Amino acid sequence: MIYQGEALSVQLLQDGIAELRFDGTGAINKLDRATLLSLEQAVTALEQTSGIRGLMLTSAKEAFIVGADITEFLGLFELPDAELGDWLAKANAIFNRIEDLPFPTLSLVRGYALGGGCECILATDYRIGDTSARIGLPETKLGIMPGFGGTVRLPRLIGADNAMEWITTGQENKAEACLAVGVLDAVVDTEQLQDAAIRLLQDAAAGRQDWQGKRARKCAPLTLDKLEAMMSFSTAKGMVAAKAGPHYPAPITAVKTIEAAAALGRGAALLIEQDNFVKLAKTPVARALVGIFLNDQFIKGKAKKAAKAAPATRKAAVLGAGIMGGGIAYQSAVKGIPVVMKDINDQALALGMNEAGKLLNKQLERGKIDGFKLTRVLSSITPTLSYDGLQGVDMVVEAVVENPRIKSQVLAEVETKVSEDAVIASNTSTIPISTLARSLKRPERFCGMHFFNPVHRMPLVEIIRGEQTSDDTINKVVAYAAAMGKSPVVVNDCPGFFVNRVLFPYFFGFGKLIADGADFVQVDKVMEKVFGWPMGPAYLLDVVGIDTGHHAAAVMAEGFPARMSKAGKDAIDVMYEQQRFGQKNGKGFYAYSQDKKGKPKKEADPQSYQLLQAVVTGQAEFAQDDIIARMMIPMINEVVLCLEEGIIGSPAEADLALVYGLGFPPFRGGVFRYLDTLGLASYVALADQFAHLGPLYQVSPGLRQMAADGKTFY
Ligand code: NAD
Repeated sequence: MIYQGEALSVQLLQDGIAELRFDGTGAINKLDRATLLSLEQAVTALEQTSGIRGLMLTSAKEAFIVGADITEFLGLFELPDAELGDWLAKANAIFNRIEDLPFPTLSLVRGYALGGGCECILATDYRIGDTSARIGLPETKLGIMPGFGGTVRLPRLIGADNAMEWITTGQENKAEACLAVGVLDAVVDTEQLQDAAIRLLQDAAAGRQDWQGKRARKCAPLTLDKLEAMMSFSTAKGMVAAKAGPHYPAPITAVKTIEAAAALGRGAALLIEQDNFVKLAKTPVARALVGIFLNDQFIKGKAKKAAKAAPATRKAAVLGAGIMGGGIAYQSAVKGIPVVMKDINDQALALGMNEAGKLLNKQLERGKIDGFKLTRVLSSITPTLSYDGLQGVDMVVEAVVENPRIKSQVLAEVETKVSEDAVIASNTSTIPISTLARSLKRPERFCGMHFFNPVHRMPLVEIIRGEQTSDDTINKVVAYAAAMGKSPVVVNDCPGFFVNRVLFPYFFGFGKLIADGADFVQVDKVMEKVFGWPMGPAYLLDVVGIDTGHHAAAVMAEGFPARMSKAGKDAIDVMYEQQRFGQKNGKGFYAYSQDKKGKPKKEADPQSYQLLQAVVTGQAEFAQDDIIARMMIPMINEVVLCLEEGIIGSPAEADLALVYGLGFPPFRGGVFRYLDTLGLASYVALADQFAHLGPLYQVSPGLRQMAADGKTFY
């Protein structure tokens, strides 16, 4: 044994070929601080051992190295600039020493080699893998960029254009694609990997492979002439800036880093990477995106625990084959859980099956599934008009029309058709779960399971605990949502649950802005382009449906009269009364037509302005910041109340629900991350300037106290 550490070891195999084997203490290998320290000691041992003719890096786990340890990131990002720079320099010195070992080196890649794992294999002379290899540099997705030499070694290995594509998209690349660009030198069968690696190293050691030449090219400036460089980098900058948009600085910084270092050798190029990494690590965007990743891990951890505690759903039933029921049935089936889809209407069933078929055909066209899987998934959805097919069903999701009387009746009916231990969940968006539970004999086996439209795309499922819902029931439904590939967030019962409860104050803020004279098109533009929402409030209402919005607004007003009842009519009422229901009937705030591809195209409709005059009482002009404040303060205050009242369990769950369910701008991380970034005291001072606008603009005493105490949510 040449070296033995906690996370890796080095031993001599045969004929002077050594193996450095990563074998972390957890289920996967991560390049955390402890592993880096160990790697440094291993390299020292290798440098001091004589007789080594070649080295291969391998993993004892299924995957090579999944990346750096992201749980360490936020702590690292807090370090002073110089200290963070030193840490990067120290890590880079280790990879440089691997690259400079006096014998040929090779990485043997199975499974993931991502982020730091990818940068580690880039330091060796050769890389061979099997077909399971997945290699990439996903750092820009977290608001940072590669910091262990990725922006230096990758372009020198596969060319600047390929490297910029890998780094700016953060994509994971399959073995074949890695071979095509030259990240992998060979792809071989798993059983032959080790032999192939030893043979290649022996060949290289014997001088039959030019490993020194390969190594020298990786450490030299990029071989691009001036014109090529200009074309390459200006095209990339244009494309990347357009795609990432102004709120995500990492991809464009990565391109500029590669450009600035193009004419430099390894040492100088690494210094540029280091400086730019530090700058990105200090941005609120990096903190927000890493925060979302960590919140997502937190939710996944909770779902795993739930899955261990509850029996898995073997067969599900969905009641209602409409927009939501059809989507839920599809999602269950596509993830391998067979489902009975019941409706009272034959045509609805046909439509539901047709939609599932369309989604599957799209996946077939994209090569994501084969014909066999398409048939298997479709045949695992059983459409029915009767309750007969419900034997063996252990999970029911009710998604019939949003009418309390019909829902209560359907729930009571289905309870008599399934076994006693089956769980029933309702996809209602507004009716309190404890109200619906009254129609059931076993309310403890009942809860809310609120999906978002379109089900196959929206990652969030809000799971609502009613007054009598048991822990077993919650565990079962959380596990089912996770098995469907969704992120389940458990909330307590109240009108609107969490997501709609905090969305409607935002719409009320919109109504007040319109009443005071704002132009809805301007409000949409500011909330989309400046704040970063995927849709502004007027457009969102049109997409959700003005009728749906109008109904939910009334439910919210009844549920929270002190804050959400209205003195008179507002903009939503005007649209509703004129039956301008939005996209669904071609007219809402905007007028809709179809573009050449048949997609809805929106235009500001002069008639909307005329109609809105009925509720406009002011003529103020609004600056961008005022629009943002007046729209966001009601939502933020309601989110804080939900935490204080225990409707949502933690800032992490709230923020994830906002990003995954509403499309809250990811670069802001969610309401609590946004508050921490603004500073609680600054937020309170801002909100106080708008306090005259009514109860939704009042900061809670709890938040005021936190601000006074200098606290943060994370
Ligand atoms: P929808 O009108 O598209 O579908 C409802 C279906 O229920 C229809 O096919 C209808 O025939 C069927 N139905 C009516 N009575 C039935 C009965 N007794 N048994 C079986 N089926 C019956 O409605 P939707 O948009 O899919 O909404 C369904 C539920 O999901 C509602 O509670 C709604 O609030 C909720 N929801 C909707 C959305 C959305 O964006 N559409 C989002 C989240 C939650």
